[in-house]
Amino acid sequence: MQGAQGDLLRLVATGKAESRADLARLSGLAASSVSLRVEELLDAGLLAEEGSGTSRGGRRPRLLRLSETAGVLAVADLGAHHVRLGLLDLSGAPLVIEERPCEIADGPRATLDRIADAFDALLAEHVPAPVPLRGIGTGIPGPVDPLTLRVVTPSRMPGWNDFPVAEHLATRYDLPILVENDANLMAAGETRCWPDRRNLMVVKAGTGIGCGVVVNGRLHRGRGAAGDISHVRVRSDSSVICACGHPDCLEAYASGAALMAALSEAGIPVTRTGDIVGLVNDAIPEATSLVRNAGRRIGEVLTVLVNFFNPDVVAVGGSLSAAEPLITSIRAAVWERCLPLATRDLEVAPARAGRDAALLGAGALLLEAALT
Ligand SMILES: [Zn+2]
Repeated sequence: MQGAQGDLLRLVATGKAESRADLARLSGLAASSVSLRVEELLDAGLLAEEGSGTSRGGRRPRLLRLSETAGVLAVADLGAHHVRLGLLDLSGAPLVIEERPCEIADGPRATLDRIADAFDALLAEHVPAPVPLRGIGTGIPGPVDPLTLRVVTPSRMPGWNDFPVAEHLATRYDLPILVENDANLMAAGETRCWPDRRNLMVVKAGTGIGCGVVVNGRLHRGRGAAGDISHVRVRSDSSVICACGHPDCLEAYASGAALMAALSEAGIPVTRTGDIVGLVNDAIPEATSLVRNAGRRIGEVLTVLVNFFNPDVVAVGGSLSAAEPLITSIRAAVWERCLPLATRDLEVAPARAGRDAALLGAGALLLEAALT
């Protein structure tokens, strides 16, 4: 019910609908239901109504548009060494987005306060006073319990385990607060770029490895860890202990962090996952070989999942995905081992939503939460 309100608002905000009749046609809801919900959105100050639309011979329909004072959403996507953050209008369109250095290893309080300070500064600079902030959302590069909005056993995030992220942010904002795993946010943003595809797996290959699952157009969270492929065991001749304590997790071989460690061992120091992409582009054989290997291992894990889930799209994003051999190797592994029926019409492709995918996904999910 509330989701439907969000859908209606989004249809208007994105310019697809400008009247109740458009909304009824596009949403499939009965005209009476549309009218009821439009009245609620008008009362809430989210929609405005004005003038007259194109006449189709009968009474001229009144035009609906997003209210100029409907509000903004503040969203962030936290990485290991930086945070990308910005303000979106309620249609999900970015008003301002920027990237700031931010060390996640400084711990949750310092990191979250830095994000909140940045939000406040952006709001003061870009949003006139009468326009309300409607919600706060942040992506976390680790597992998040959807019931408690706490971080659960994250890798490379010292001090964050079991930290109540939403509670801490709520001390500064009395608003809907979204805390979500970053790959899930990326999946929610990416799915908007594949409007005619309903089932997606969105892999985030960055410092860690994550995956978000979209089922029938909606993010599938499960109990919170749905799509988490980082600790799936892979076949290996050697044995590497993962940060989680188990041997031979995918993450211990194919994450950006693992590749950086391997390159450093080979005497090629790198400090950021993006550096690996640079080395591949410069045709440094060690880097290319490591990335190809990582792609093959990710592909082997995805093979099982593609056979099981039969997605329409496997989209690969994250900083490591800019290294071309990664996707080529994933694709090769999937096509070699998957059932022909599972790969018929399957697309394994670079993510389309770009570097702001997680922020756009946060906006879409937050709008639903803000309307609930
Ligand atoms: Zn592990």
